Amino acid sequence: MLKIFCFAQDGEALKKQLSRSVSFDSGVQDVVNDILEQVRTRGDAALLEYTERFQGARLNEMMVSGEEIRSAYEQVDSGFLEVMHEAYRNITRFHQHEVENSFFYEGAGGVILGQRVTPMQRALLYVPGGMASYPSSLLMNAAPAKVAGVRDIVVTTPCDPDGRVNPHILAAAAVAGIDSVYKLGGAQAIAAFAYGTESIPKVDIITGPGNKYVALAKKQVFGHVSIDSIAGPSEVVVIADETANPDFIVLDMFAQAEHDADASAVLITPSESLAAAVRETARRRIGSMLRKDIIGSALEKNGAIVIVQSIEEACLVSDMIAPEHLELHVDRPWDLLPSINHAGAVFIGSYSCETVGDYFAGPNHTLPTNGTARFFSPLSVRDFVKHTSIISYSKKQLQECGKKIAAFADYEGLQAHAEAVRVRLDS
Ligand code: NAD
Repeated sequence: MLKIFCFAQDGEALKKQLSRSVSFDSGVQDVVNDILEQVRTRGDAALLEYTERFQGARLNEMMVSGEEIRSAYEQVDSGFLEVMHEAYRNITRFHQHEVENSFFYEGAGGVILGQRVTPMQRALLYVPGGMASYPSSLLMNAAPAKVAGVRDIVVTTPCDPDGRVNPHILAAAAVAGIDSVYKLGGAQAIAAFAYGTESIPKVDIITGPGNKYVALAKKQVFGHVSIDSIAGPSEVVVIADETANPDFIVLDMFAQAEHDADASAVLITPSESLAAAVRETARRRIGSMLRKDIIGSALEKNGAIVIVQSIEEACLVSDMIAPEHLELHVDRPWDLLPSINHAGAVFIGSYSCETVGDYFAGPNHTLPTNGTARFFSPLSVRDFVKHTSIISYSKKQLQECGKKIAAFADYEGLQAHAEAVRVRLDS
């Protein structure tokens, strides 16, 4: 199930094992394009038809009532509510550190220059709900939007065939203080909030994970609205030395692999004995896992144990992968941090398992996948704000540099630009 590769000898085979495509097949593309066009042109009617076709629900009302949210909050297990509240406080506190301030300064000659940071006004948080429910995703998307100061935050998630939304999702919405929850899912929900319909107001940004239909729809509507990222299948890399605990490593790799058969989990180690122990532990433990089929197929297709010559080489291999999650199970984990350049989140030491970050610690669990940690960052408050440049010159200040500016415009052959300055110099 978990193949062992020697980095120095099996480079090509390893590359093949770990290569993952971000492209969508053309069949999905056609389906999504059609859904987007139908919702854009036919609005609510198309939205309700698709909801009946894909969710099996005939909706009279697309929004969950305040009463349903309140009663879900009262129904769910109090222990679960408590941990959600604590997690949400942690997530909020982390994101408060991301807040950017506007700035103003005096430039040459006393001109005033600056940048205002203002929140987007309306955000849609997509919470997936086809095969499982993810209240943690709601909390992770809500906290940065709230901290950024977004005024209208709406959630949408697919309902069941009876038109009901999972009570854990509704309870999470209540924990985050969100009272607008829609029962819509898939590409049709993305289209509705990107373009607006008779009863759905257009938003400024759409965030949140989803399946291939949701991901592709988000990609297609980018430009009509802002989006966070195109989330691909999840992945973890573990760098470990001979001090690491094979049980910890195996369960962390399983935790990643149980998401879906396209997930990837890779151990990189200079220790051949640890590699053998991890393979053996995985073999022994997989039979007791509820999602053993998904885990087995993810590890078979996209799993690997890579033997390297040193921990330094392990960091180089990890950087080549640029993983979404990177765990450091080594004797002195902080010492490795400067050698890591590309990772969505780094988990320091063998007790900082990924599950802690998925639910509770505070940093966002929406992370760049598929090697995009080379240039993308985790979901943050920055996704929900925009920047406006501020420029203020007095007449005297323009007179001091106006000739140079007009000359610049002349070099570009833009007469009106130049005249716009000269008319002021002569006034
Ligand atoms: P989903 O809400 O993303 O998708 C369900 C919707 O997909 C349906 O309502 C339907 O409208 C649409 N759909 C399904 N089959 C279709 C078809 N044949 N044609 C057109 N539309 C179709 O829920 P899901 O399917 O459970 O997927 C959730 C995904 O989100 C999983 O891949 C999961 O791993 C991922 N996820 C990622 C994170 C993260 O932080 N990266 C967190 C949670 C979930």
